[in-house]
Amino acid sequence: MTALSLDHATLDMRPHLNMQRGACPALSAPMMTGDGLLARVALTDAITPAQLADLCRLARCHGNGILDISARGNLQVRGLSEVSAPLLDIDVRALNLPLRDGLAVEVPPLAGLDIAEIADPRALAEAIRREARDIEGLAPKISVVVDGQGSLRLSHLLADIRLVAVRSDGSIRWRLLLGGTEAVGKVHGVFGEIEAIEATLSLLRKLAAMGSKARGRDLGSGLSLNGDAAPSASPLGTFTLSNNLCAVGIGAAFGQAQAEGLIALCTEAERLGVKSLKPAPDHSLMLFGPRSACELLADFAGSKGFITAPSDPRGNIAACPGTPACKSATIATHEIAANAAGEAADLLDGSFKLHITGCPKGCAHPEPSALTLCGTAAGLSFIHQGKAADSPFASTIIADTNASLRRIADLVQTERRDGENSAACLTRLGPERLAAAVMSGRP
Ligand code: SF4
Repeated sequence: MTALSLDHATLDMRPHLNMQRGACPALSAPMMTGDGLLARVALTDAITPAQLADLCRLARCHGNGILDISARGNLQVRGLSEVSAPLLDIDVRALNLPLRDGLAVEVPPLAGLDIAEIADPRALAEAIRREARDIEGLAPKISVVVDGQGSLRLSHLLADIRLVAVRSDGSIRWRLLLGGTEAVGKVHGVFGEIEAIEATLSLLRKLAAMGSKARGRDLGSGLSLNGDAAPSASPLGTFTLSNNLCAVGIGAAFGQAQAEGLIALCTEAERLGVKSLKPAPDHSLMLFGPRSACELLADFAGSKGFITAPSDPRGNIAACPGTPACKSATIATHEIAANAAGEAADLLDGSFKLHITGCPKGCAHPEPSALTLCGTAAGLSFIHQGKAADSPFASTIIADTNASLRRIADLVQTERRDGENSAACLTRLGPERLAAAVMSGRP
């Protein structure tokens, strides 16, 4: 651990902190939240367990020791101050991590090692990342996804430009989609590798020329894939890879972990012979090593409160940080989520993400959910098949949250038809039946 000994005298030469809400909270431009500044550490490649442990020590030293693993698989350090955020920036850079600078071009976490993938997307992604460096004026959150169609997909993540490997007449080509998830993005065309890079760069230049608010959806006018888009599998559990390697996906409950917990995980990973890891989508870490090491590490992680299997009900809840971490929040989302996982596990069958949000902004789940619980000034509102800002079908006081959710779970349990999952049952029941269930038993 060398980073903390750096000379910080050059601090006054750092660029001013960018604390504009909605801006990408990159390492040098942290964003203000309820528990202080939040800095994002975005990586382009795997790091060692020892490097992640060093990063966690920096999070403890400069921040409040809480790290997020975001839904897109970025690490975020919370609880920084205006003084400590630039120190974190300097110290993280001294760790020589493969930090992303510039445009976000994301590939699936098993890219290049995934025995099921149609194509390794990494070279294409790197070419786009490199060539796009000169393009100025893009919206801060523009993202490009390059997906080789392996066992772990990024199809559920929003992307301005998405390239998906497809087999066509015996060769590999790349389908380019604009905006949204893979299911709703508009098909722009199907290209060979070189043409796919050129088309992507040309679209990025067009977006830059349209101004810093233009997004991929503003360019899309074609048809979407709708039901033809392959769903994303869970990153949790063990995966057999090429080169006799194995990977294990381990999740942070509700996207957050204490530095101490992650340091313990990294120490055990090193001891077992795990050589590298990457933050991965769905608030997870993907760790690479021999099969026995991966299996033993999963057992260790489970004993420390991490999520190790897709069947864990906590993995079926999307909860934003809530109070006290976000100043816009009116409810303790993680506390409600932990109760929901314990008390309504039967409802959380993996067919939908229960969205628990501290305010109508809905950071944790921008897409509609079968059921959303949203904090309000008066308590909590329940939304059916919608986004956090949509009209609720019922509202309760905070004290009635668990009982209301249990009433909904009981209704689904009673009314569920053979073979019907929770999402389908919630859809069929509709907002009136759900509202009646929430209101039942009240004075
Ligand atoms: S949804 Fe609202 S309360 Fe939750 S993190 Fe976003 S802004 Fe904060």
